[in-house]
Amino acid sequence: MKKDKKPKVLWLQAITCNGNTHSFLSANNNRMRLFLNSFDLIYHPSLTTDITIKEIIEKKINFDFLLVEGAISSNKEFFSISGYSPYEMLNILVKRTKYLIAVGSCASYGGLHAKFEQNSDIQGIGDSLSAENLYILKHPVVNLTGCPAHPEWIIQTLFSLKDYGKMALDEKGRPKELYYGLAHHGCTRNEYFEWKVEVKHFGLKEGCLFYEQGCRGPMTHSNCNKILWNDVSTKTRAGMPCIGCTEFDFPRENMLETKKNIGIPNEVPLEVSKRAYLSLTGVAKTFKIGRLNKKLID
Ligand code: SF4
Ligand code: SF4
Repeated sequence: MKKDKKPKVLWLQAITCNGNTHSFLSANNNRMRLFLNSFDLIYHPSLTTDITIKEIIEKKINFDFLLVEGAISSNKEFFSISGYSPYEMLNILVKRTKYLIAVGSCASYGGLHAKFEQNSDIQGIGDSLSAENLYILKHPVVNLTGCPAHPEWIIQTLFSLKDYGKMALDEKGRPKELYYGLAHHGCTRNEYFEWKVEVKHFGLKEGCLFYEQGCRGPMTHSNCNKILWNDVSTKTRAGMPCIGCTEFDFPRENMLETKKNIGIPNEVPLEVSKRAYLSLTGVAKTFKIGRLNKKLID
């Protein structure tokens, strides 16, 4: 891309709660300033812009990045934007962009909306593009999963694509540089996890949320505990389990409990055998470390 020309960004909202817009707008001042100085946000439905989405379509305006928030449906009665279904809108706009980024779990895989039985064709972006339109893109669709996606993931992705033109993606279409680790990595409760000291209830600073509260940190690809939310916190730091919002199967049922069979969790940390997990747990539980069983602050 020419250095003297700011790449144009268009943000489209399909079937969404606007959570990713809220997340993006809560990026810290420095990052938002950098974004606005480096990109030309030509359209966002929640912000005042010089042009409408209808004009963009009618005047066949081209841009560089199409960011889509929300799930896609071809059912106009269910949801429409300027007279188009999200499916029609997506397949028109994709012809005008170089890069297509699904922002959030609904845009990536259909998310919560795909669970509704009233409209069975609700999907993520990758599954909603016609084959012809999927192949005209200069780069595979980037899935920024999360409910919502962290503002820093959005900004980093835009800069990586602007500066290098490509990103390595994992098998679920997520940028490897952002989703290689687990939410468990960097969690301040790791020592409690190792010694099997369980949290007594939500909101406490002490204890691990895995065994009783359904924490998905050891199975969820995300860097939440490394790139903190609002620069200060994460769910697990606040005493709320990770609910696995960056994974393909989100949202699952019974997200805040650990399903067990004869006292053994049905799911154990990623790629750890149940046997290894049980052996380690058995040994760790025999040690009662005083410090880990006390309040951190009295
Ligand atoms: S609270 Fe969750 S993320 Fe943190 S150590 Fe326990 S299992 Fe891992
Ligand atoms: S901690 Fe887990 S549930 Fe929370 S935002 Fe990160 S990946 Fe999603």
